[in-house]
Amino acid sequence: MLDRVIRLGKDMLASSQKTNVVYKIKCANCEACYIGQTKRHLTVRINEHKSNIKKKESDWLVVSCHRGHDGHEFDWMHVDVLHQEKHLGRREIAEMICIKKHSKSINLQKDTDNLPGIYDQVLANISFSP
Ligand SMILES: [Zn+2]
Repeated sequence: MLDRVIRLGKDMLASSQKTNVVYKIKCANCEACYIGQTKRHLTVRINEHKSNIKKKESDWLVVSCHRGHDGHEFDWMHVDVLHQEKHLGRREIAEMICIKKHSKSINLQKDTDNLPGIYDQVLANISFSP
């Protein structure tokens, strides 16, 4: 049992130190999730999400809006790494595909506007598990 806890702790540390990732933050209070990408350490980006709510409301990003307006909190301890890709263009495509896959994502529509139309067709023909 203790072995398991230690191993899980190590895994968590490992993913927070990852770079060039597409990640998913889940709401702890509902089904919503937010998907983003960063080339920096995941933990740096997550801390920005966490502290964004301290800014004035007009500068809030969608994650802060969900926290502030709905009174929900995100599960900061369990951020999922969905994809790792060094190449920015490919990472952005992976991010957009991940956003499209998650019907409960709170990402703005414009986050996926750059996804070439062909992917809509491709995605429509693939069924994803929730
Ligand atoms: Zn929520």
